[in-house]
Amino acid sequence: MDIIGGGIGGLAAAAALAQIGRRVTVHERDEALPDTGTALGIWPAALRALDQIGAGDEVRAAGIRPRRGAFLRPDGSTIATIDVDRLHARTGDHIFMLSRPALLKILYRTAVRAGAEVRFGSTAQGTIVADGVFSRTRERLLGPAYRARYSGTTAWRGVITGMPTETFAEIWGPGVKFGVTPHEGGHTNWFASAAMPEGLFHPGHELQALRRIFGSWAAPVRPVLDAIEESGILRHDIYVTPPLPSYVHEGIVLIGDAAHAMAPDLGRGACEALIDAVTLAACLRHDQGLSLYDRKRRPATQRLARMAGMAARLTRMRHALPVRDGLLKVGMLAGPPG
Ligand SMILES: Cc1cc2nc3c(=O)[nH]c(=O)nc-3n(C[C@H](O)[C@H](O)[C@H](O)COP(=O)(O)OP(=O)(O)OC[C@H]3O[C@@H](n4cnc5c(N)ncnc54)[C@H](O)[C@@H]3O)c2cc1C
Repeated sequence: MDIIGGGIGGLAAAAALAQIGRRVTVHERDEALPDTGTALGIWPAALRALDQIGAGDEVRAAGIRPRRGAFLRPDGSTIATIDVDRLHARTGDHIFMLSRPALLKILYRTAVRAGAEVRFGSTAQGTIVADGVFSRTRERLLGPAYRARYSGTTAWRGVITGMPTETFAEIWGPGVKFGVTPHEGGHTNWFASAAMPEGLFHPGHELQALRRIFGSWAAPVRPVLDAIEESGILRHDIYVTPPLPSYVHEGIVLIGDAAHAMAPDLGRGACEALIDAVTLAACLRHDQGLSLYDRKRRPATQRLARMAGMAARLTRMRHALPVRDGLLKVGMLAGPPG
């Protein structure tokens, strides 16, 4: 089986499929795994998927667990706290923050150990499409109506080295937010987002743009902002995949962002790519394999994508902020999803 894309979904699928005895080749366009990248939140459901391919404990050991979590206002006051203990009580596990390069290395090793071949600098046609939000195969199969769409939000990300933190904090202002999380190795991961027209970049002046928006915000934003260097800023507009009528077309199956790129506001895209991968391998043991995969994964991921879209719209609100913050607080009373 040929897998297009050696990202999180593609490598996890390679591991899962090789482990059930399939001959697998992954075609990754890039020449190598990335060396740099920011932290991803890996939720309990994704850790269970990683456990199924034998990579869960390695991810738990390499990652870092936020001890506290909170949503704050720009002046530092609390909107709501994230009950990490309740999440543990409900799921038996924690959220771990792990950088994309570290996660990819673990998945790569797991796939190769299981017998999969991974070809870098390679593009090809494949039966499993894991080539991300801008998937060419999705467009070829379904047409331009299913091209990735700009979500209305732009994002900045980075890592401050040598600044440890144990807290996950999101600070919500009018139409903008700033996030600070732990990053393995004693670093701080940060992200920021704003409602903005598509493509409004400031090459070489992104730090200035960030200071203009967040410069007056209290801790924990202030010390992080003070430590950001222009060269360490990653800037992306956020695109989403329109809801697909099926994740399977002409015997070709879509997984991960190729199938359901969603707003990053719930931090679930990579997690869902991992779950897609192990679900696909489990379904391929059955006669109705591909249609079973579609039935199992499409409703769940499209629901999450809708929820992520709603969360993104809340963060883009510029008015009625007490109402918005009240909604967030009520949402957090139930505890975060597993
Ligand atoms: C700001 C931000 C924060 C996020 N935070 C989180 C988080 O905390 N937790 C979480 O779970 N998710 C998070 N996500 C989402 C997560 O990054 C994605 O959902 C995840 O990377 C999807 O994995 P994937 O394998 O489907 O796609 P990708 O990771 O995009 O991988 C696709 C791969 O395919 C390759 N490729 C593309 N075209 C071709 C081709 N033609 N031939 C061969 N190879 C090709 C690419 O080089 C790439 O390696 C975040 C996303 C953003 C933007």
